[in-house]
Amino acid sequence: MSEAPPASRVSGDVRNHNLSLILAHLARVGPSARSEISDATGLTRGAVTALAQILTSAGLARELDSVSSGKGRPLTKLELAADGVALLAVQLASDDVTALLTTLSGEELYRRAVAHGRPMGDPEAVLDVLARVVEDVLGESKRLGRRVIDISVVALAPVGGEPTIVLADVSLGWLQVDVLAGLTARIPGIDGTPIRLGSDTPVAALAELELLKAGGDALYLKSDSNVGGAIISAGRNIEGAHGFGGSLGHVAIVPDGLPCECGQHGCLVTVAGVGPLLGDRGWAKQGPSVALEEFVTRVEAGDPEAVAAWEAAVPWIGRTLQVLAMATNPGVIVIGGHWARLRDSIERAFLSNRPFAPGGRDEFEPAVVAGVLGADAALRGAVWAARDRFIRDPSLLLKIQRLN
Ligand SMILES: [Zn+2]
Repeated sequence: MSEAPPASRVSGDVRNHNLSLILAHLARVGPSARSEISDATGLTRGAVTALAQILTSAGLARELDSVSSGKGRPLTKLELAADGVALLAVQLASDDVTALLTTLSGEELYRRAVAHGRPMGDPEAVLDVLARVVEDVLGESKRLGRRVIDISVVALAPVGGEPTIVLADVSLGWLQVDVLAGLTARIPGIDGTPIRLGSDTPVAALAELELLKAGGDALYLKSDSNVGGAIISAGRNIEGAHGFGGSLGHVAIVPDGLPCECGQHGCLVTVAGVGPLLGDRGWAKQGPSVALEEFVTRVEAGDPEAVAAWEAAVPWIGRTLQVLAMATNPGVIVIGGHWARLRDSIERAFLSNRPFAPGGRDEFEPAVVAGVLGADAALRGAVWAARDRFIRDPSLLLKIQRLN
């Protein structure tokens, strides 16, 4: 156990780092006794006591009533408080806008979903709905007595540039759209709150990996209204030079394949996207995400038409994963979105063409696992990423608490 000097004498940087260790522990593990925090963080009990004092007097943590430890001696647990603040994540999907308001540690406070009717090629109409949903949630947060300290807008599309914009969203018929400018123009006063735009797949991937405790080297492949993915290396998303690294739906996997909306031929989406899986069955009316969920249910039930469509697609999913696994050497492959329920057949397709493992063992073979968060992965991931940004910089949190 490292011997930390009393909190009053350590430099601001060290103090912030140690506060950050305690906040991270409370956010991830939940209410904990000081001795448990000390064991988990390596800080001495004296240091934990002094730092806990700073957090409780700032309103960032509070003591829970003593509970019996089973051996007679009562145990006082510390929990994350921050009752005056909230985090907001908003997902802009091809069918609807969903907002999730949470506490600093990610507990759900309020949720709102509104269909936008999928007006193809009309960003203004979708941004109107987005702004209405955000205003509604900001109002609800105010009624709950909480100030929203961070807004994350998540697009199911690649984003990039400075300022960050949606680069293209084929499921909405968008080219470049400045979503944040549209939002701040529609909601007066919102520009006082930190607001960011990101793609769904990196945050969804990191959220799934956190819950699955699956390590930091992973491939994430998901399907909802589109096919997307992320490559995670040493815990970080590989976004590449222009921000669209991990666009696994547009890996050109089929030789001389069909033309894709991206300009290439034979992308994975041309054989495993919503269109090829569902054919021309009028799915556009109910929205691609709902239609794909129904499709997966039909595959599971053995519906011959759905099974045939899936069996035509799944070898290409397997081959895409074989290529990417040799390129990136992941510890785990996470299948997210609606395809999570079809993990078994994806794993079979993946394993159909793999190298011999040294000594005949398969310990180097990445596990293929189903995501557990379903359609909520990106929203959860976005609020957890916001939580981690604040936890990494407790001085910012202390400042916010003083302003409340
Ligand atoms: Zn493509």
